[in-house]
Amino acid sequence: MKARTKLQKQVSELIGKLAPITDIQTEWGFKNCFEAKGYKTKKHGISCLMCGHRYKDGSHELLTAIDGSVCPKCGTRLKVTHTKKQKDNQAAYYGIITTFQGFQVMRYFELAGYYRVDDPALLNCTEIVQLWMLPNGKYVTFAMLHTVNWYRDGWTGNMVIRKNEPSTYNINPFRIYPKMSVLPEIRRNGFRGKFHDINPFYLFKIILSNSKAETLLKARQIDMLKLAFRKHEGTLSEYWDSIKICLRNGYMIKEASMWTDYIDLLKEFAKDTHNAKYVCPVDLKAEHDRLVKKRNEMVARQKKEKKILEAVKYRKEFFKLKERFFDTCIADDIITIIPLKDPNEYVEEGIVLKHCVGSRSYYLNPKSLVLSARIDNKPVETIEVSLDTFEVLQCRGICNQNSEYHDKILSLLNRNIYQIQKLATGKTV
Ligand SMILES: [Zn+2]
Repeated sequence: MKARTKLQKQVSELIGKLAPITDIQTEWGFKNCFEAKGYKTKKHGISCLMCGHRYKDGSHELLTAIDGSVCPKCGTRLKVTHTKKQKDNQAAYYGIITTFQGFQVMRYFELAGYYRVDDPALLNCTEIVQLWMLPNGKYVTFAMLHTVNWYRDGWTGNMVIRKNEPSTYNINPFRIYPKMSVLPEIRRNGFRGKFHDINPFYLFKIILSNSKAETLLKARQIDMLKLAFRKHEGTLSEYWDSIKICLRNGYMIKEASMWTDYIDLLKEFAKDTHNAKYVCPVDLKAEHDRLVKKRNEMVARQKKEKKILEAVKYRKEFFKLKERFFDTCIADDIITIIPLKDPNEYVEEGIVLKHCVGSRSYYLNPKSLVLSARIDNKPVETIEVSLDTFEVLQCRGICNQNSEYHDKILSLLNRNIYQIQKLATGKTV
């Protein structure tokens, strides 16, 4: 892409003047991004994949496995593997953070290592991306073409000015060269040399363009800052009033996603989210869990109330359909099976056994009868019997699972199904 905007033109003038990566920087990259390996066989000893030298190692095998071995020729400490493998490849992204003529420049390199037993390693370092950022957060992308699809993640073509697409061109370097040069504005806004696992480009951009992010970094509220990347930048504004209370009270938000959940819960329960008493809990997890429990109970209560209100509405209709079965009682010495005698009992049964019998489709169904199998008057399973065929349609315990009494319940019911049949048809069976 040709430089079009004023900023792109300004950057394209400077690109050629930027010094190439130094040998020291390249070496540091290979040393810190790649693993130096030695391949060992019983017969031939250790082959250093770095310089190609082969040698016999006198130390104990166990020791070599833990400590590795130092190649007598190139002096590299090798991680030794017992293998007959002959080749190895390694690849990594590497970053250099520098400044140039008032720009913050993020330079990314692709490192590739090709290794073969008995040969010195072939190491390649290719510059693939430069991101040039001004102190106001505006930036220009200068990069090779990045092709990402299911079979390829590659870099081709020349480095040219490209459209700003951070998801494609702002890569995550595996290592960053420790000697960095940073714009005074970035230091002023709280950067002290650590990225806290945040991508350099995103960290610089947000602290240059969002004063809330800057405040958080200065106050070392790193987890809250990270949340803005995990969710979206708007998260900071959304919780800012409460965050300010934390900052004022020196309260460190250690688990930001739990803390924001907790603030949402406080809002739900109309608690004052400007009050340090609520916003800065000593035991966040305990307070969070307490409110979650309270909310769950509230939701369950509301659900139940809604179902009961509905159940009351249909009571008359229900009685008309099912009243004639109410005297049924099928029992042995442990289990008692009785029909549910009110829509509210359906709702209760559904809550106790955590299944869906509490809905209208069950108690107003003219073609089936629902019974509860109980032990010591506590529901164990709920049974639905067809009033057409007098077969069991469903027989389920807690959370729709069978209880240990399942077979006994079915057997007891089937032996006595004639009672229901008699009441349904009005005939003696
Ligand atoms: Zn060597």
